[in-house]
Amino acid sequence: MLYLDYQATTPLAPEARAAMMPWLAGPGEGDGFANPASNYRAGRAAAAAVEVARDQVAALLPSGGRLYFTSGATEAINWALFAAQRHYSAPVAGAAIEHAAAIQCLDRLNGALWPVNQDGMVAVPNEIAPGTIGACMLVNNEVGTIQPVAMFADAIHAAGGLLLCDAVQGFGRMVIPNGPDFIAVTAHKIHGPKGIGALWVKDGVHLPPLLVGGAQEEGMRSGTVAPALVAGFGAAAALAAERMDADAVHVARLWDLATDRLKDWTINGTTGADDRYRGNLNIRREGINATRLLSDAREVAFSLGSACGSGSGKVSHVLRAMGLSEAQARSSIRLGWGRYTTEAELSAALDALLAAAKLQGLN
Ligand code: PLP
Repeated sequence: MLYLDYQATTPLAPEARAAMMPWLAGPGEGDGFANPASNYRAGRAAAAAVEVARDQVAALLPSGGRLYFTSGATEAINWALFAAQRHYSAPVAGAAIEHAAAIQCLDRLNGALWPVNQDGMVAVPNEIAPGTIGACMLVNNEVGTIQPVAMFADAIHAAGGLLLCDAVQGFGRMVIPNGPDFIAVTAHKIHGPKGIGALWVKDGVHLPPLLVGGAQEEGMRSGTVAPALVAGFGAAAALAAERMDADAVHVARLWDLATDRLKDWTINGTTGADDRYRGNLNIRREGINATRLLSDAREVAFSLGSACGSGSGKVSHVLRAMGLSEAQARSSIRLGWGRYTTEAELSAALDALLAAAKLQGLN
């Protein structure tokens, strides 16, 4: 498989896997299986590993907040939006290009959607209802556009509200801006394991607990914490911090390579260096049937839209919100690369994609 779907998920970093292994102990393999809530030595060791990882993840987030582990970003987003809306009895609103995890919450809470322009950028609305709980993602998962999150936070705060930032696609790849009151992140987009994420809550901001029970995570999210997943998340975050600049240079080099080979394709969304994450290339070409391309270039793993949406046959709500016609959206593909993508791998994938396009009569 030539893997070009880094927005869907990323391969586990060897360092993250190594950090997980001690906490997956079976019989005769040590006492790393202990429950981190247990009050004997093995339990305390597991709890200490969880706290090391919490610090590693928090180091990539603004200072002045607390971090609660969750099963992933979907859970963190649902928690922040539903619990805050209920607690503050506030209206909700969010960007029209949010991930399904936020869009579905906004829909159920009758939230207003802030429009996006054809470049994939969301403008800060002039009018925000008092007390609004707003949602603005940092980097869009489909077109890679980087939203002005700090400006959204200022505007929401001026209206007496709170801002949730879905930072999933920017976390570990760029500095997370100050301003949001809640930040949702996940491990599997930064070469950590699946099934673990976190919600960051700014100090002084009240949020009711998500789950009650054994009072883990300071009583905010009951349920036994998974030391292996958390340790893998922490190691992946520490590695991302260390390699952030080198990773950025690498993805930019791959961007240049790909855009050079795909000159006949139109890029969906802005291409401004400061406004777009360079590990995402969403492109379209008139006359291309993207679904057929996916089956003809079967050695290449890429996406037709968001991973969640691509199995559904529905066209991308992001591309449609940006003003693309249904036909343009259906002739669009998303290519994503990252730290472990080699130039040779990308070149081979592009060869396969262009050969598949040729089968549709396009050179
Ligand atoms: N938000 C964005 C922007 C994403 O790309 C994803 C991943 O698909 C999610 C939220 C959901 O994250 P998770 O898979 O951890 O629930």
